[in-house]
Amino acid sequence: MNQDFRLQLPDADATAAFGARLAAVLPSRLTVYLEGDLGAGKTTLVRALLQAVGHEGRVRSPTYTLIEPYRVNGRAFYHLDLYRVADAEELEYLGLRDLVSEPCVLLVEWPSRGAGVLPLADLVIALAPAGDGREARLLPATPAGREVLNRLGFT
Ligand code: ADP
Ligand code: MG
Repeated sequence: MNQDFRLQLPDADATAAFGARLAAVLPSRLTVYLEGDLGAGKTTLVRALLQAVGHEGRVRSPTYTLIEPYRVNGRAFYHLDLYRVADAEELEYLGLRDLVSEPCVLLVEWPSRGAGVLPLADLVIALAPAGDGREARLLPATPAGREVLNRLGFT
């Protein structure tokens, strides 16, 4: 019985504020799938999240590199954007399996392109247009994902 929760994000600042809220309740190991079309606000959310956990440099969209690693205060974060991946096999070259052998937070845009190779999601965040803004649907897929939503105050 997987409930989903909805959140209105009227502007980009609201998306960033949600990223920061999420940052405050993340466990050391979590896989988050970010669903939504180009321009939905996925990278905006990740950028705010990484800045909120304490990353001080830039947060580039991993459109071409596919993966951008961050280590902040001893914690590992990987931001992936698989839009350009045609075949999930390509991901083997990223060495994902080694990366996820230690606790880390995976934040994955276009996760469907990595189906079968990516770890399964603990939490799915689906962003969709809503007027001039966006609506986020939050779908927990594991106990760890549910715990994050609990800590955000969704029960
Ligand atoms: P994606 O990574 O999903 O392709 P981006 O994060 O690059 O999308 O954002 C695309 C644009 O949408 C940016 O200009 C960003 O400022 C804007 N944006 C993000 N969230 C919202 C929102 N809630 N309402 C309106 N615009 C938003
Ligand atoms: Mg993006």
